[in-house]
Amino acid sequence: MANEMTVIQDLHGRVHDYLRISITENCNLRCKYCMPAEGINLTPKSHIMTADEIETIAKIFVGLGVKKIRLTGGEPLVRKDAKDIILRLGKLGVSLHITSNGVLVDEYIETFKTAGINTINISLDTLQKEKYNIITRRDTFDAVWNNIDLLVKNDFKVNINVVLMKDFNESEIVDFVNLTRSSPIQVRFIEFMPFNGNQWDKSKLVTYVDILSQIQTHFADHQVIRTIDKPNDTSKNHKIDTFLGSFSVISSVTNPFCDSCNRIRLTADGKLKNCLFSNTEDSLLDALRNGQDLLPIIHKNITSKFKVRGGMEEDAEFQDPLRYSENRSMIKIGG
Ligand code: SAM
Ligand code: SF4
Ligand code: SF4
Repeated sequence: MANEMTVIQDLHGRVHDYLRISITENCNLRCKYCMPAEGINLTPKSHIMTADEIETIAKIFVGLGVKKIRLTGGEPLVRKDAKDIILRLGKLGVSLHITSNGVLVDEYIETFKTAGINTINISLDTLQKEKYNIITRRDTFDAVWNNIDLLVKNDFKVNINVVLMKDFNESEIVDFVNLTRSSPIQVRFIEFMPFNGNQWDKSKLVTYVDILSQIQTHFADHQVIRTIDKPNDTSKNHKIDTFLGSFSVISSVTNPFCDSCNRIRLTADGKLKNCLFSNTEDSLLDALRNGQDLLPIIHKNITSKFKVRGGMEEDAEFQDPLRYSENRSMIKIGG
């Protein structure tokens, strides 16, 4: 009986204690690898979770053993009541995190502190302004750069997410690692993943092996240390021996980490997604609004979770446009 469910466990024995909540589909940037060129059809506001609904659903998940929540989007900080949502979730006793493009971070420093957020993930794919304007189709590099500095000065742990693409920012890998020389940040290189409308192409992929080989060649006079990953870490962690910060690689394409997956996702329109690559979703928001019990729906959703990448174990399936175009675009999932 689903009501007896006390932890969110799938049929492969994985316990899910990490919930990622997208709080908006809106964004102030238009990153080419995330948002389709033609834009997206925004879900009407009446079908987006309210702050009350987010809090109610989050509390149910906490009751089922969720210990970590990450807010994402779209861009979470563009939502008008983002501060209220952050402060409410900060009271749930979970480890609260946020992924942001960094543009509006300066307006949220005190909110983050009050909510007990210690680590902030900021997405920044290039250190060159002109390239930033191209990839984001916007002109906010300086704001992001200054906000990273502001976060570090305010003692937040900052992770910089970098989606690597051949012939775009592959040549900046060493520059990004050099940022960790005298700053305690972590640079997280992410393999470019295929989603609906993002013009993914295998030839644009920069793999974990490529990344490491570039770093090892450049820093040949140093030791590149493979540091210990935390349980359920999606990233393979490293550091250059004398550097203050560290770097890691998220290799979802060439080396997925599904065996230890503990993540479940809630989209801004209240749909539960058991995997980043799942094509099936269950609406918790509809159920909540209809006064239904959410537990059987959560149970059904998690027990249908595939072992690997939404059932696409083979690379050929994963890279098949017919398959990934059935999924949402990344901006509507939240990473
Ligand atoms: N707007 C926020 C941001 O950019 O950080 C949060 C949402 S964004 C969808 C979450 C993360 O997904 C970002 O770090 C972004 O770089 C990453 N992402 C988006 N599209 C991707 C893709 N095709 N492959 C890999 N990572 C992607
Ligand atoms: Fe917006 Fe983040 Fe997607 Fe860029 S990666 S378009 S900032 S949601
Ligand atoms: Fe978990 Fe799916 Fe990501 Fe694998 S691909 S780690 S199963 S969310």
